Amino acid sequence: MSTSFQDTVIINGSVITGDGRTFFERGIVRLRDDRIIEVREGTEATIEDVFVIDAAGCTILPGIINGHAHGCIHGPAMPSGSAPVAEDDVAYFRNKHLLSGTTTLLNVCGLATVDEIHLPGGERHPLDIHVSSAHTPSNIAAAMEIDGKGLSNRHHALTIETMIADGAKALGEAGGGQTLGGGAQDYRFIPAAILAATGVSVHPKIARSLKEAVLGRSLNGDGAADQLYLEHLMESCGLKAHLDAKAMRELIAKTVLPPVALSLQGFQEIAAQSVRFGLPAIFHTALPTIETLLEIAATHPSCRMVAGHTNHPSFSAEEAVHFASELRKRGAAIDVSTLDCVHTRWRNEPDNLDALIEAGLVDTISTDFAGGDWDSILSAVQRMVAKRQLSAPAAVALATGNVAHTLPQLAGDRGFITKGRRADLTICEGHNLSRVRHVMIKGKIAVSNAALVDDRLSLTQEIS
Ligand SMILES: [Zn+2]
Repeated sequence: MSTSFQDTVIINGSVITGDGRTFFERGIVRLRDDRIIEVREGTEATIEDVFVIDAAGCTILPGIINGHAHGCIHGPAMPSGSAPVAEDDVAYFRNKHLLSGTTTLLNVCGLATVDEIHLPGGERHPLDIHVSSAHTPSNIAAAMEIDGKGLSNRHHALTIETMIADGAKALGEAGGGQTLGGGAQDYRFIPAAILAATGVSVHPKIARSLKEAVLGRSLNGDGAADQLYLEHLMESCGLKAHLDAKAMRELIAKTVLPPVALSLQGFQEIAAQSVRFGLPAIFHTALPTIETLLEIAATHPSCRMVAGHTNHPSFSAEEAVHFASELRKRGAAIDVSTLDCVHTRWRNEPDNLDALIEAGLVDTISTDFAGGDWDSILSAVQRMVAKRQLSAPAAVALATGNVAHTLPQLAGDRGFITKGRRADLTICEGHNLSRVRHVMIKGKIAVSNAALVDDRLSLTQEIS
């Protein structure tokens, strides 16, 4: 790349460095090549012979690191090993993350190869995308029980050991909504099974109510509803004319339960591999998995457990707080996901997220997938700041410095605006951190004035 300037200097903006505390009302950030070489408070800077970005009115953050996302690679999708996401959707999801300030992303579907991050011969997206690995016998078997249509012999032959050698940055996601009766059952598998059996389309919230009525909230039958309630529920959504309650019980059980035991066995295998390789492992946290997670945290104290989406909608707010606190006491890192609960709210509400943040129990924040409806990390950060749940530096740390600490193989060289770190920066509006103006990755502008910048036509080239 040709440029007439050695350094880039960002001036006149506020700076949040990612450590959870530091805020400069006016700061200066200087970049050289792909590194941060200086950050300090003040308005003075030597700005001759440098490329200058005037960030007046904006706040400069470390680039957002999303440690739990799906749908951004071209390999088997989700812990169900489903057929890859359509190329056009992958392109959209990547752009959606990048335009909302994410510079590093871990795709935790878990069963793809490292080379399936990119299309063969395809152009590299500026977003720095990595994968995790859940290649153990029970996780693969659980995927085959529910779907597995994206898995070839090549995927079946992969092991965590070979995946780490190839560049996988973490383990997991152990389990998922598909294999553990969670969100993906509600929005995909149960509605599809009901549609096939009856011709009736049901909303995911109805699918979830039916599932809980038949199996209980923990999927073990505890708290399952009585016959009358199930019939009433079926009546209210127009299903009673097509199926009787017994047939509905069979349909739900057949759709949800086959992979559950295998998937929970997969948790044990992932925990053992985390101990063996010292890699963080991301676990699907929800009411049906919580007993297994608490047991693993007790029996595998050196498992580097990341409890994913602890705000999962299968929990009440009180349960989310109680279990997050128990997991944290046993050494787990507590992740929350935005899901669609910040402003989309098609399936999820923010109560559990609020309760966990207000209890001071959250280490990191990610998006997860939420059927493609996820709200951005910075929209959740802005909500925390506006509701005075956290200071802006503390809220931003959940998506930057804290993620670098929790997932060092993924992000140990970034996540802070300090000398020597990778020059990944997100520059957003000072009064609303969810409005992203510029994004820099490895010192290069990837988003300028809220628009994607073509890699081959960077701003520095335009003006040189
Ligand atoms: Zn999950």
